[in-house]
Amino acid sequence: MSVERTFSIIKPDAVAAGQAGEILAMIQKAGFKVLALRMTRLTETQARGFYAVHSQRPFFSGLVKFMTEGPIIVMALEREDAIKGLREVMGATNPANAADGTVRKRFATDIERNCIHGSDAPETAEVELRFFFSTSELQ
Ligand code: UDP
Ligand code: MG
Repeated sequence: MSVERTFSIIKPDAVAAGQAGEILAMIQKAGFKVLALRMTRLTETQARGFYAVHSQRPFFSGLVKFMTEGPIIVMALEREDAIKGLREVMGATNPANAADGTVRKRFATDIERNCIHGSDAPETAEVELRFFFSTSELQ
């Protein structure tokens, strides 16, 4: 595996609960380099666009409402095998199924309010990085 980039969001639940620092520390302890990081807040249009792949799912409207309820922290991360590695740090989507020591096991409330996003493949990582960051920010 080579060095690759991935994209992550600390979601509104975790930012509001003051968990962002601990989550970032977990990411950095797992060996990720932070290439770019910013606090922002999604508009409904942005949230719908970012999660467009899920637009036909029953949880879509709830997800959009959740992701727009408060500030988020968006991050560009780099590491060997970054995409799979970040998913391991995150834990399973449903915290009930997440392994001990993962972000979602420690902090998530339920399958919706699960604290963190991470890209699932190289193609989606590049699209998601470009959704939030300019080329110069990613150097
Ligand atoms: N989600 C939800 N209900 C579900 C499945 C997912 O509310 O039954 C939300 C949850 O916040 C999740 C996001 O939609 O993180 C995207 O779902 P995905 O299946 O891509 O999970 P992830 O890649 O975040 O683990
Ligand atoms: Mg996903």
